[in-house]
Amino acid sequence: MTSKSSQFNGRLVIDLGAIARNWQGLDKISNTALTAAVVKANAYGCGMVPVAQALARAGAQFFFVATPDEALDLREALPEAHIFVLNGLYPGAGALYAEKRLMPILNSMAMLDEWLNLCTQKGDAIPAGFQFDTGMNRLGFRLQEASVVKARMEGSGYKPQVIMSHLACADVPGHEKNGTQRALFQSLLAQFEGIPASLANSAGTLGGRESHFQMVRPGISLYGGRAIQGRPNPMAPVVGLEMPIIQIREARTGESVGYGATQTLNRDSRLAIVAHGYADGFLRALSSSNGRPGAHVAIRGHVVPVVGRVSMDSFAADITDIDTDLPTPGAFAEIIGPNISIDDLADSADTIGYEILTSLNGRFDRFYKDESGNIFQE
Ligand SMILES: *Cc1c(COP(=O)(O)O)cnc(C)c1O
Repeated sequence: MTSKSSQFNGRLVIDLGAIARNWQGLDKISNTALTAAVVKANAYGCGMVPVAQALARAGAQFFFVATPDEALDLREALPEAHIFVLNGLYPGAGALYAEKRLMPILNSMAMLDEWLNLCTQKGDAIPAGFQFDTGMNRLGFRLQEASVVKARMEGSGYKPQVIMSHLACADVPGHEKNGTQRALFQSLLAQFEGIPASLANSAGTLGGRESHFQMVRPGISLYGGRAIQGRPNPMAPVVGLEMPIIQIREARTGESVGYGATQTLNRDSRLAIVAHGYADGFLRALSSSNGRPGAHVAIRGHVVPVVGRVSMDSFAADITDIDTDLPTPGAFAEIIGPNISIDDLADSADTIGYEILTSLNGRFDRFYKDESGNIFQE
């Protein structure tokens, strides 16, 4: 959001080396399956162009985005990459996809018809992927359409680059739906022999061989987020965010803090007011009240709680227990870093790391650390 950097702003640092190592780790786990990289939504808020370029340097050749505009930006950054568009073929976008070598994931009969007509027009089997829905009811042909899809495909001598589906519950490995979806996918594949298949997101990739097929599609794991609930997260952290403290204040027992007076102090307290609010992606759900604890942040290495409601531009942290080396205005609070992970924040807000990451658009400067440790701005 902020384009010029300022000594007064907070700092977001994206560790491209960690992203590269995470991709390489997943590539190892996925063994002989190709490891694609999902870089939709601005690479989960991390910055699509520098992230995709780092992934390409690490060896990634296949990328997934959600929309045509994301695909066009990625094509400019990576002229050689294989780019799939998960949302599929937008009506009328076929010529553009063909010109820019973007591969839609065809999700419906309407998309398939439009694509095959374009192929006929151009006299070329322009590459695309197919998605079948195996139990999520989001995108993809219904399984009952498999024979029609097959007939259309064979009728025009067309072969997709990949047949994919998506797991609804991969983050809970014991969920019975995983096995159900996998079985449905397998019986579908029996009808499309010889075409590469893809099922696994990050959780599916980390969850075991049986979901890998010929290509895996990790997203959140690349960015250091937890993919599987209730298991230690093996990925390297990628994101660091620190925001400035703008005031230190003393408050008394019985006083309340913040909008709605949701939290009353039960001791004389010292508060650090941090210039970071919900307008910057520090979700209001991270607020604390007397009934419910909120997020924690780290100040001078001490993990301290948020007090009261998060405002648009700031929140209060309770630093009463920091007794030496007190922070002063201008010092930084660690929002995400060695002491606070994106999943810690997600848990505090009753959400997932994905939402914490994609919400990080705020009044801070954005830096990248490259594979050699050099810091640069985009
Ligand atoms: C977003 C997405 C992924 C990546 O999921 P993660 O859980 O972030 O690894 C893979 N496949 C599809 C279809 C997606 O929409």
